[in-house]
Amino acid sequence: MTGLSPAEQAPTSALRAQPSDGSVETAVLGMPSASGLPTASGTFTASGIPPAGDRASADGLALAGGPARAGGSTVPVSPAPARIVQPSDALAELIAGNRRFVSGRPQHGHEVSAAAAASGGQLPHAVVLGCIDSRVPLEAIFDQTFGSICVIRSGGHVVDRAVLGSVGFAVAALKVPLIMVLGHVRCGAVDATVKALRSGERPDGDVGYLVDEIAPAVQAVGVDDPDVVAKAMRAHVARTVRRLRDVTGVPGAIAAGRVATAGAVYDLDTGWVDLLA
Ligand SMILES: [Zn+2]
Repeated sequence: MTGLSPAEQAPTSALRAQPSDGSVETAVLGMPSASGLPTASGTFTASGIPPAGDRASADGLALAGGPARAGGSTVPVSPAPARIVQPSDALAELIAGNRRFVSGRPQHGHEVSAAAAASGGQLPHAVVLGCIDSRVPLEAIFDQTFGSICVIRSGGHVVDRAVLGSVGFAVAALKVPLIMVLGHVRCGAVDATVKALRSGERPDGDVGYLVDEIAPAVQAVGVDDPDVVAKAMRAHVARTVRRLRDVTGVPGAIAAGRVATAGAVYDLDTGWVDLLA
């Protein structure tokens, strides 16, 4: 992809939002405005957001059972998004998508036509590791369509070899420019880890593995801290980001400026994603 000026090619450090007051609005304001998003091909702009009525009608057609097919063949009605190559553009798109989600004006739904449009191949612009929490559907909160982001989820976004290999595959084979770890407030896995450390009663078996992996972040904050769950979540996200930066192939991609990482926390109540400083 060409056409980006040096000024638009933000260094990795610029992807980290300024420390915020807890609201994502602050973090978002630290990013390019919706109207000022990079205009490189594949980067969505605010002006490209379809009116809600259009989406509603598309949903209705899909539910009616046949709109995506005409004459027996699938007819994509919307083009698959073009490639986003720059890490800064990828993060800007996720932040813009979260803004669209929060504002109630998502650009993407779950129309089968969008699935068909992306079926020929994938050009995802991020791999996002999040928690299994059912209240944190990653494609929805970032307003991303089919083929846009690779999603990995585990309890408390705990990493194991499968997660590491998946991140490595996304970077090496799918050429994603952004690796994001997204935690969320009131995470049950972090809360369970705090309880386990306070009581000394570690859950048995495989669930205990989650506790073991989250425990260092809780211990770093201190189990007696009155705000330990929230603080430990952010520490756990930061630790997870650091771990993913060591995945095979990733350090070289980061050094070459092809890949950047970001950590963030999702607010269940407001829908905002707060980038960690
Ligand atoms: Zn969780």
